[in-house]
Formats: sequence, structure tokens, C-alpha cells
Amino acid sequence: MTGILGTVSCLDGYDPDALRVDKAREAIRRCLEVLREEETLPVRDALGRVLAQEIVPAINVPAHDNSAMDGYAVRSADLSSAESFLTEAGTALAGKPFGGKLGPGQCVRVMTGAVMPQGADTVVIQEVVRKEGAQIAIPPGQKKGQNVRAAGEDLKVGVPVLKPGKRLRPADLGLIASLGMGKVRVKRKLRVAFFSTGDELASIGTALKEGEVYDSNRYTLHGMLARLGVEIVDLGVVRDNVPELESSFFKASRSADVVITTGGVSVGEADFVKQLMAKLGEVLFWKIAMRPGRPMAFGRIGDAFLFGLPGNPVAVMVTFYQFVRPSLLYLSGQAGDLEPPLLRVPCSENLRKVPGRTEYQRGVLFTERGEWRVRTTGQQGSGVLRSMSEANCFIVLEHERGKVAAGEPVSVQLFEGLA
Ligand code: AMP
Ligand code: MG
Repeated sequence: MTGILGTVSCLDGYDPDALRVDKAREAIRRCLEVLREEETLPVRDALGRVLAQEIVPAINVPAHDNSAMDGYAVRSADLSSAESFLTEAGTALAGKPFGGKLGPGQCVRVMTGAVMPQGADTVVIQEVVRKEGAQIAIPPGQKKGQNVRAAGEDLKVGVPVLKPGKRLRPADLGLIASLGMGKVRVKRKLRVAFFSTGDELASIGTALKEGEVYDSNRYTLHGMLARLGVEIVDLGVVRDNVPELESSFFKASRSADVVITTGGVSVGEADFVKQLMAKLGEVLFWKIAMRPGRPMAFGRIGDAFLFGLPGNPVAVMVTFYQFVRPSLLYLSGQAGDLEPPLLRVPCSENLRKVPGRTEYQRGVLFTERGEWRVRTTGQQGSGVLRSMSEANCFIVLEHERGKVAAGEPVSVQLFEGLA
């Protein structure tokens, strides 16, 4: 057996009707293939992109030994255990080196960043010296080499600093620029197409008829995808009918690396959506042991990977963050750990939970008398999108775990990060 099903079905413990979250992750990961295409960009434009080359310094950073402080550059051999008197031979500023060489008994006034004058090995900060006529008095107790930044202490010629697969953050742009590089090779952006399915969905700008809801999933998806820096193809609302769905799947899989749909995969849903997905490509339908977000489809249509997410607004966000986001990072070439870290924090209230599924309750991380605590946002229905809006984290209750008593530690996954 080949293809998606062949890859997935030989997984230990693979059960499409009661799939553990970790198994689902593993199954998806096994099927994904990293994007191959690359492009060269000016450094600024590479923010958030995945590096496709190794960065090996052609120069040392800093290029020269230089002063870390304002003060006097001296020869440590001239200093004694009593006060030492040196003659000021000149000045060195950042970008304006002292031209000469330091002779015995001489010092040079230096500013932070100034190239260390030839012969000097130590900087004495200006606050501790005394001027006595033309002489500079240096107190005892100076250490050889102090307050000097060595050439190459940040980056060394020939020693690789950034590896392919690194998602470039502000510090990385600065680091590349510090090497004098103006351009950098990165993976091209991933293209992600999405649409919502459902006869009950109304688009913004139309009046709601009885039984209709405004389509919010395309907006949360837009937000989550925009933050990941992928190219977005929004294909709108698609009715639950075969011709419309078929043409949307066709368009989506032609125009994107990944297709995301919402709705149409739940048990109560008209079966033809599932049948159609299965007809157009190789698509697996899973019942994942999780809450919210039990039903999900995963597979391939043409060259595109398909994530068929449930319709409920919170389930969409949870399944996106737990399965789609790490997959998009992986596909885009990012290396290393793609899951956000889990922090352990005491829960401030009792939580209901039964063993046998992973739960992603919406939480608020807060401080109480200087200690971190987490509580839920209250009502946890998978249609209550407000619970996501009010939350700043997921409380992740592991598969085996039962109910939580107030004060017990729980795992927390933060929504926001700094870099
Ligand atoms: P489904 O998975 O299609 O059965 O949908 C489950 C629930 O989610 C239903 O109550 C739908 O009305 C709701 N829902 C589905 N799609 C959307 C959407 N795009 N925006 C808001 N609610 C939706
Ligand atoms: Mg539906």
C-alpha cells in the first residue's frame, strides 16, 4: 500500500476512529514533504522567512579588538601594585583609530568601540583615573585584558552561525547585516488556500436569514495564517452542493500548497462532502480523541495537502493550532521543535476532565501575589468563540489525565511570544 493511507496505517496504534492527538501529529508529519523552492531576498524582507542557506562569516565581528568602555588604553606591563603614572599619547574614537603605536609608559584616551591602539592590551575606565598635570594616574588592581572586546568574539570567520531551517527573527537580520551581507537565500512562502463550507453560512454584508450564521471561520483562519507569514488565498463561502464544492477544491488544490476547509467533516454532516473529498484525492477521516475538535480530515488533493477542519469556530482554532500550524511550519522548511513550549502552572480552580482524550481548555494566565496561576475563561462550548478571545493560553489536559483539583499544576500553552 502506498500514498497517505499506506504511510499512516503502519503507524503503531493507528486507529482512525479514536486517534490520539500525538498519533495524529505523527501520522500527519510522516506524510508531509518540505517545500523545495527558494528565493534570494534583501535582508529586511527576509524577516519571518525560513533560511535556506548556511550563514558562514567571511569577516570577524567585531573586526578588531576594541574598547568596551570610555577610558584609557594601557599596556598592562606598565602597571604596578602601586599607583602608576602614564603619559597620554593621543585619542582613539569609534571609527577614528589612534594612528601610532603605544610606547612604554604611554596611554591613549579611548571611547567605547574605538579600535585598541597597537601595543595596548587593557582599558582602565575613566571614572577611576586621576589627571596630574600631563600625567594620568592609574590606581592599582587593574586586570590585564579588562574592558577589551576581542575581535571575533561575536562572530568568527569560518564558524557557521545560522543553519538552514532557521526562521529569521529580528536578531538574525541584525546578525546577517553585521557580516555586511545585503541578501539572503530563504524558502519561498507557502501558499495556503481556504474556504468555509455550509448552507447556513452568510457572508458579511448580507442580512441574516433565519437559521443562518455569519461565517467567522474565514476571519480567524485569515488571522492565524497572516501571522504565520504564508500567502493566503481566500476562496470564500461554499455551499454544501457538489458542483460548487468540486470546483472550489479544484481551484484550491491548483493554486496552493495547502488547502484548509472548515465544516462538512462531522458525523451529523451530509455525507457527500466527505465522499467528494475522498473522490478528488486521497483523504482520511479521523475521529481524534480530543476536545474540542473531534472530527478532522487529512490527505492530499492533487499536489496540495488537505486539512478538513470541523465547523465549530473554537474547534477550528484548536485543530489549526495543534495540527495545521506545526505542519505549515514544517512544510515551509523550519527545522527543530515546531510546538510551542508547555509551561507548568498551578490551576486556580477545579476542572472537569475525563481520561481518554486530550482537552484544550481556554485559559487565562495571571499573577496572584507574584506567582503565576491559570484559570479557565468559563463556558467551554466549541461554538463559544468568546472563550478564545478572552483567553491568553490553552490549558492542555493530557490524554490520561482525569479531573483537576484547584492548586494542582497543569500544562499551559501561551498564545503570544516575544520574538
Ligand atoms: P459542521 O462541522 O459543518 O457540522 O458545523 C458545526 C457547527 O459549526 C455548526 O453549528 C455550524 O453552523 C458552525 N459553523 C460551521 N462553519 C462555520 C463558519 N464558517 N463560521 C461560523 N460557524 C460555522
Ligand atoms: Mg456544515
